[in-house]
Amino acid sequence: MTITPTIVSYLHLCHRKLWLHAHHLRMESTSELVAEGKLIGETTYPQRALKWQELDLGIAKIDFFDPKSNTIHEIKKSNKKSFAHNAQVKYYLYLLHKIGIAEPTAIIEYPKLRITKTVDWDTEEDQDLVESWINQADTIIKGTCPDRLQISKCKKCSYFDFCWSGE
Ligand code: SF4
Repeated sequence: MTITPTIVSYLHLCHRKLWLHAHHLRMESTSELVAEGKLIGETTYPQRALKWQELDLGIAKIDFFDPKSNTIHEIKKSNKKSFAHNAQVKYYLYLLHKIGIAEPTAIIEYPKLRITKTVDWDTEEDQDLVESWINQADTIIKGTCPDRLQISKCKKCSYFDFCWSGE
């Protein structure tokens, strides 16, 4: 199974969500995968598509990449899940480093909050970290469907009805 940046993000949010997504039970089409990032980026910064380029990594597309500085611009709606955003971006940097892009960097932007956060790539430390995430995700996918989180953590999840409709 290919470990995508979405899967790495879900590893940090909910192992059950990761498992469901990896087993093609997809509920996100109208929610975070679409809304976060590209949609916000295009509506908040309409000029960006002209300034920076889309980068297709095969297993993932980076919407806004600055090839002059090797910088990813990742745009998010809210910083409530910033640890997952950070992991997703680290994985992008890992993939860029793997294909030989020198010293890649990312800037996570939260335009509604007027906050930006820079994420750098530390070759040795981050390589081990990201590869441990890949191994963890692979183990989860090969196992049985994990338990639900506490319901209080599920309220805004796109899988809420799937996980909790029988309660
Ligand atoms: S509803 Fe809760 S348990 Fe189910 S996938 Fe979402 S976060 Fe995980």
